[in-house]
Amino acid sequence: MRTITLINGDGIGPEISDAVVKIIDASGLKINWDVQTAGADVVHEEGTPLPPRVLESIKVNKVALKAPVTTPIGYGFSSVNVQLRKALDLYASVRPAKNLPNIQTRYDNVNLVIVRENTEDLYAGVEHRIDENSAESIKIITRKASERICRYAFEYAVKHKRKEVCVATKANICKLSDGLFLDCFRKIAQNYPKIKTREILVDNLCLQLVQDPSQFEVIVMPNLYGDIVSDLTAGLIGGLGVAQGANIGEYCAVFEPVHGSAPDIKGQNKANPTALLLSAIEMLKYIDETTYAEKIEKALYKTLKSGIRTVDIGGTASTTEFTDAIISNL
Ligand code: ATP
Repeated sequence: MRTITLINGDGIGPEISDAVVKIIDASGLKINWDVQTAGADVVHEEGTPLPPRVLESIKVNKVALKAPVTTPIGYGFSSVNVQLRKALDLYASVRPAKNLPNIQTRYDNVNLVIVRENTEDLYAGVEHRIDENSAESIKIITRKASERICRYAFEYAVKHKRKEVCVATKANICKLSDGLFLDCFRKIAQNYPKIKTREILVDNLCLQLVQDPSQFEVIVMPNLYGDIVSDLTAGLIGGLGVAQGANIGEYCAVFEPVHGSAPDIKGQNKANPTALLLSAIEMLKYIDETTYAEKIEKALYKTLKSGIRTVDIGGTASTTEFTDAIISNL
């Protein structure tokens, strides 16, 4: 039996991870979940939100499913999500945005994927206060990380039969840092002559995405733009409740939804488990459990088609009602 690390998170994390574990279990696939707690709840006892045991577990198991862990704004410990990505060198954040059945959105032809560099840029966390009235954050872009993420995007395009890779930067303003990223993209592109390329400024990308998202297939970008744009693309397909994600490294992978811990709806049996479930489906494909992945995907689609949906996507079902419906459709 395969062992997989499960970080059940905080906020709505435990509710949606319970739902997803139940669905996978009901599909017939037996997984030994190595449950690891992290975040604010463990700081008291273990002195850190990301104890070494969590990293060890992922290193041993190679794969983790992660529910959201709260990132405190402006104070307190640094983001567990960012620390995890850095510690395990999960350099590629892959965030597909594809329409789901029966979720009313502005467009019905969205099928794109954001490939976000996950280890540097402003997320390197190199910042300091100069004095009481000023602060400085340093944007780090290296050739190594930029070439690696661009290569990942082209490989993704080849594997998933996508015809074009677009790169989004602000190279007109950040001439050195984003300029280097763009330079790396152009260099790597030369190895993939069959894949078309497109270069766009990230502000124009936002405009184009809200006007006609069907023009994009794979979009690669530095960390901060990727974080922001993937919330935008989540909005194109029905919101954060359905936006899946994966953080891929050379040695391990952590599958997690785009959304945060949604403390505003914690404990109300309202949270949509779809984003975590779609992330888990990708995880099952990653570990070559494709038959089970497809079985669960079909049950999810059937449930949505039958009109059973959580509140965030226009329905009335609670988390548990939605979960039970998926299980009965398996
Ligand atoms: P973070 O900074 O931790 O990524 P965030 O600012 O993206 O968090 P979220 O916690 O993702 O914020 O929540 C944003 C909004 O989306 C909230 O109103 C929340 O209730 C809603 N939301 C997020 N995830 C879900 C979900 N799975 N089901 C229903 N609503 C959700």
